[in-house]
Amino acid sequence: MKRLLPATILQTVAFALVLALAPAAASAGEGAGLIAGTVTRADKGRIEVKPANGKAQEVLVTAATVFTKGKASATASDVKPGVGVIVETAKGKTGTEAVKVQIEAAAAVLYTCPMHPEVQQPGPGKCPKCGMFLEKKG
Ligand SMILES: [Zn+2]
Repeated sequence: MKRLLPATILQTVAFALVLALAPAAASAGEGAGLIAGTVTRADKGRIEVKPANGKAQEVLVTAATVFTKGKASATASDVKPGVGVIVETAKGKTGTEAVKVQIEAAAAVLYTCPMHPEVQQPGPGKCPKCGMFLEKKG
């Protein structure tokens, strides 16, 4: 029994470290945020959203993903290529997961940064250059 003890202590310490580090890693929030853009691909279980300025990003659709269209609810089948969406994301186990997909009207309002007018996107969010909240254009 005594020979097992050091290993047990090590395991306990390692487990405590994992517990201590895990929340910090989770709150760093890689993959958590808001993506506003146009759907470029809509497959079963995943969609690809291309912001006006930026690379297309793949988002996983889960059973918990909520779809809305205006004030009404919507379904995954309402998300088609060419549709404007605002996606609330969270870091999931296998990638960036969509928490909420808001389907925009055809003419999405552009948002721009007060400091960077070249930054434009079809929905609210944060400026990729300075992090300020974007404002409705015009
Ligand atoms: Zn800015």
